[in-house]
Amino acid sequence: MGYVWYPGWFVASRNVRKAQIVKMTGTAHANATLLLTLPCIYAAYRLGGKEAAIGAGAGCVIAIWVNPDLDQEGLSQIEWTTVKRTFGLGFLWLLFWWPYAVGHSHRGMSHVPVLGTAVRLLYVALFIPVYVGLGVLFVKLIPILDVRVALRWPTIDWTSIPWLGLGWGVAALAASDALHWFCDLFSSQ
Ligand SMILES: [Zn+2]
Repeated sequence: MGYVWYPGWFVASRNVRKAQIVKMTGTAHANATLLLTLPCIYAAYRLGGKEAAIGAGAGCVIAIWVNPDLDQEGLSQIEWTTVKRTFGLGFLWLLFWWPYAVGHSHRGMSHVPVLGTAVRLLYVALFIPVYVGLGVLFVKLIPILDVRVALRWPTIDWTSIPWLGLGWGVAALAASDALHWFCDLFSSQ
């Protein structure tokens, strides 16, 4: 590190600048994502119209909660705020992502652009039915509620799904996650 041989004031200013860029907190990531939202919405609107713009906006906003840092077991500032503002219901959200946090090392696969986004979407697609099923079974176990459960495969009308908005949403989510990865390159935590 050559700069340690420079005069003291220069070393100090280098260190101050370094200290400023190494801390990329959850809030800093959320702000970076919000900065990306407007250009994303604009680009989507120009290329695909209103539905695309809504999808892109939603994808960016979702990235504030569904992002590469879900690979950490600790509570982030955003998660803590969510728990407080939802009167504790946010703990269900944390519980949902807890196996993901345990199964991924911090800044491992979860942080790889595109791949990390795909893994999280797959996780949601696989585990939401599992947790909803467990929730229904739990409710059924409460005798006074007398809930009957019938198991059947859902019939999905594929033509009714807004694919354009969904596609742009996924693209915006992937773009936000790539930005997260890029910002982390300059951060030590
Ligand atoms: Zn990160």
